[in-house]
Amino acid sequence: MKNIIIFGAPGSGKGTYSAEIKERYGMSHISTGEVLRAEIGRGTELGKTAAALIDKGQLVPDELIIKILADIYDQQPMGRGVIFDGFPRTIPQAEALKEMLAERGHDMGYMIELVVDEQTLMQRLLSRAAKEGRTDDNEDTIKARFDVYHQQTEPLIKWFEKEGMRHTFHWEGSKEKMLEGIFDFLDRMRDNG
Ligand code: AMP
Repeated sequence: MKNIIIFGAPGSGKGTYSAEIKERYGMSHISTGEVLRAEIGRGTELGKTAAALIDKGQLVPDELIIKILADIYDQQPMGRGVIFDGFPRTIPQAEALKEMLAERGHDMGYMIELVVDEQTLMQRLLSRAAKEGRTDDNEDTIKARFDVYHQQTEPLIKWFEKEGMRHTFHWEGSKEKMLEGIFDFLDRMRDNG
């Protein structure tokens, strides 16, 4: 299986669909948000830098996240493909990922873009705040994360388009319908090698 990049705004379901894809195809999953939350939990230097930025809805600097990515990638079992969730979030990160994979003779694979309207995203994030207690799921931080997404992350869509990797899935009102579309696509890609 090729690698997959799950792409979308905060609250678009990147973590949810990554877990489903991981389960169905036996792939491994790298969520840079989870990696950073674990660093915060362990109180590392990176965690300390990340905590303040995450709570403001800002991105962690490219060089810090790029530095740890290759190590995490190399720890994954090879051959089944990796789902990148929340990475890349900027064009320099995408260029770094492309280079890191090329150095290993690996392909970037497919970019799966999740498109959800902003009102639904906001409702989801606020209800996740009540359930999971993430410090960055409050209204002010969510707005900042949307701004960061539009300014720094959205330009990547064209980058993926140029790479011929972009596959878009629009929210159709239920997780099951979304999954049907995504699985259908990935099954076809797998059958075609
Ligand atoms: P997520 O769990 O993907 O929503 O990420 C939570 C937060 O972690 C983001 O709002 C950023 O502050 C930070 N973060 C996660 N991934 C990245 C990344 N690739 N580049 C920079 N910051 C990131």
